[in-house]
Amino acid sequence: MTYLDRLCEVRSEYADRTESRGVYLTFDDGPDPLCTPDVLDVLAEHRVPATFFVIGAYAADQPKLIRRMIAEGHEVANHTMTHPDLSRCELTEVQYEILAASRVIKMACPQAALRHMRAPYGMWSEEVLTTSARAGLAALHWSVDPRDWSRPGVNAIVDVVLASVRPGAIVLLHDGCPPEELGRATHARVRDQTVLALSHLIPALHGRGFSIRSLPQPH
Ligand SMILES: [Zn+2]
Repeated sequence: MTYLDRLCEVRSEYADRTESRGVYLTFDDGPDPLCTPDVLDVLAEHRVPATFFVIGAYAADQPKLIRRMIAEGHEVANHTMTHPDLSRCELTEVQYEILAASRVIKMACPQAALRHMRAPYGMWSEEVLTTSARAGLAALHWSVDPRDWSRPGVNAIVDVVLASVRPGAIVLLHDGCPPEELGRATHARVRDQTVLALSHLIPALHGRGFSIRSLPQPH
């Protein structure tokens, strides 16, 4: 299989042919002890599921948050161990980053069913896709990106999502901050805009007839 064939396997939405208006919320770069509990609280309040692409190094520090995600019906997925740009890594590093993150998540929560992987920065490569496939992980990208990490304002986050969402959309949000960004700006780690935007977005999506769902099982 060529790299281009493999790239086609990277899903960025999950539309089906029925009348269904399913959309999928995904959160990257956690778990973060300050932000993730707030995100989980908003999801619980509205009874909607999400998928958390967690960084293994953070999951190792916050196993209780991984268990809480699973206990509350969310999916925990692989976002590598330390969040490097995998397209610049040697194969052995790619393998370590993906396999070690899966191990940490399983250690935190043995009943976690690991099904999806998202490359940091969406930087997919043949090595990433092959390693993920061998580890039983389907590659998942996104179709709606309000760049919440850049703190554009609560309204801006909500407006971008509502303007571009369509049935099957996979929405990218962040409940944490990758290690290499932590020291860059005082607010880099703060996700208060994401949490507030989420509390507006969920009812707005429901009001437009969308149903927020768990990701379908990959085949
Ligand atoms: Zn990330």
